[in-house]
Amino acid sequence: MLTRLALAAALFALPALAAPDTIPAEPPVPLPKPVEEQAPVEAEQAAPAEVPVPVEKPEEAPADVEPEADNTAEEPPAEMQGPPKPPAPPPPPPAPPVEKEDEEAYRACIGALKTMGVTFKELPRIDDGVGCGIDKPIAATTLSSDVTVEPELTARCETVLQLARMTRDFVEPAAGLGLAGLGALKTVRQASGYVCRKRNSAEEGKISEHARGNAVDIAGLDFEKGSVAMVIAKPEDSDLASAFQRALNAFACLYFSTVLSPGSDATHQDHMHLDVMERRGGYRYCR
Ligand SMILES: [Zn+2]
Repeated sequence: MLTRLALAAALFALPALAAPDTIPAEPPVPLPKPVEEQAPVEAEQAAPAEVPVPVEKPEEAPADVEPEADNTAEEPPAEMQGPPKPPAPPPPPPAPPVEKEDEEAYRACIGALKTMGVTFKELPRIDDGVGCGIDKPIAATTLSSDVTVEPELTARCETVLQLARMTRDFVEPAAGLGLAGLGALKTVRQASGYVCRKRNSAEEGKISEHARGNAVDIAGLDFEKGSVAMVIAKPEDSDLASAFQRALNAFACLYFSTVLSPGSDATHQDHMHLDVMERRGGYRYCR
């Protein structure tokens, strides 16, 4: 009896022991189901992501068109012209800013003009862009108490000062020798002071010194009893007027770093170009 009771107790005990194990095992079963349900949802969401795939097909379509394009005879020559094309020219360098005037040098220049009796007025800064302009421009109407400059000359002070010095030191006394009979010098006739343009008025190339206020063109001289124009004076010309012109051409190089005398090139036939452009090492260009 005891063994039967023990067996019976064991039989009851087995389900009781097994039951706790099986019961918790069952709940996880439903859990995986929602996971599996979500998976299909993701699959559906992924489906729209695959929709763009047809969009890629149109890209393949043009690829199919290309062979047709090759059939057109005009296309290959266009590709043949590709290689011979020269490289695109580099963009032009940016225009330099208007050069700042040294305040101390400017004041010294203004003082020198006043001492010489030059009549002038100081103008507001000029900046016409593309590198054209003068930081401290002046407009002069005379070069001394006796000699005018016409028309009014707008330039840097340094340009006006050198012209006034050359007129006082050379033009007036030399004219008394070489152009005797015309009387005293009355007017230096200028053809160009400040103007925004390229060298020789060209479309391309470097900017003119006129565009920086460094240059003045002299067209002629007016005396009490007549006028003389700037003329081409050849070495073999044996008259006094030619001797005066040749002397002026040479003398100007002591005052200006660039002198282009009449006849020095195609664009300087009837006037004299003078400028105070600073070159490395004090180099001067006088022709
Ligand atoms: Zn000039």
